[in-house]
Parts: sequence; C-alpha cells; structure tokens
Amino acid sequence: MYEGPVQDLIDELGQLPGIGPKRAQRIAFHILAADPDDIRRLADVLRLVKEKVRFCDICFNVAEDEQCRICRDARRDATVICVVEEAKDVVAVERTREFRGRYHVLGGAISPLEGIGPEQLRIRELMGRLADGTVTEVILATDPNIEGDATAAYLSRNLAVMDLRVTRLASGLPVGGDLEYADEVTLGRAFAGRRNAGD
Ligand SMILES: [Zn+2]
Repeated sequence: MYEGPVQDLIDELGQLPGIGPKRAQRIAFHILAADPDDIRRLADVLRLVKEKVRFCDICFNVAEDEQCRICRDARRDATVICVVEEAKDVVAVERTREFRGRYHVLGGAISPLEGIGPEQLRIRELMGRLADGTVTEVILATDPNIEGDATAAYLSRNLAVMDLRVTRLASGLPVGGDLEYADEVTLGRAFAGRRNAGD
C-alpha cells in the first residue's frame, strides 16, 4: 500500500479491463517517472474522450457528432447493415475493406450469466432501422463465442419474419475469441464467404 494519490492511481488503473494490481502498480510508477508534458497530454485526452465523444444516433458507433462518419457517408451502401457487438468491431471490419455498407452496434451480447438479455442491447433500435424496407441484407457479425452465437441465433430468429436476407460470417474465425482478434485476411474471408443464417 502506498500513500494518497499513488495508491488512488493504482486503484483506478486496476479497475480497467485486463489490468490486475501488479500491472496497475507498474503503470503507476511509469506515470510517476514520466515527463509531465506526456502525462498532461494523456490526462487531456482522457477528459476529452468523455466530453466530446458520443454514440451515433443511428448506429451507436462512436461519433463526434450526432452521426458517425460512416452513417454520414452517402457513398456507403444503405441496403446492407452489419451487426456487431462493440464499436471496436466496426474498426476490425473496416480494416478488411470487404464491407461498404452500414453498421449497427448492439452494445454487447446476450449473456444470461452477466444478466444481459435482448432488452439490454440495441435490438429495438435495429428493428426500427429495418422497418422502412431499405435494408435488404443484415450481416450478423457477432463474436465467435458462446454469447456471440446466442445473440446471432436470437437475432436470426427475430429477423426471419422480415423480408430480408440474414447472413452470418463464414466459419474459420478463431473460436472463443473476439472479432477484433481475427487478422484482416481471415475476417475478410469470413465476410466474403458469409452464408444465410439458419442454414
Ligand atoms: Zn453511425
């Protein structure tokens, strides 16, 4: 245990995902030894990211305005929506350069263990986007793990009544992981080889 602010810093860092007490301590001492200007920039960007960045009104991707860059881009295909769990998955899919449509970020995946059901995800908002018939294909690009599969199964059941094609990424992604862990070639291939959900 350290005194005052040092321990506070270690405690705060330790709350972040993937950072245990040991690593939090290492980062804290790195910050203590670092150049004050570097740390001021870090502090500024932490504050700015909470003040300025928001979620897109349409797709819930991170955005600096009401709408994200992708939703504002008229060249993007409005007839295809790729459904992902988190905004970081948008980045992973964009890296493949395989997809020119729009996105919908659910904000997580169905997980009974963590108490996350369909109501906690932005599924109602997705249904709202599909109501006017512009969208002809929904690509389910949830993570290749139990929660992601459960979410895709739930969505494909609920979308089956609608007049549109529902597809799922081809297998071959690293099972059990996050979409972002797949390299862009593998993810791109899974996109190109997508198949009808429920087949
Ligand atoms: Zn958007």
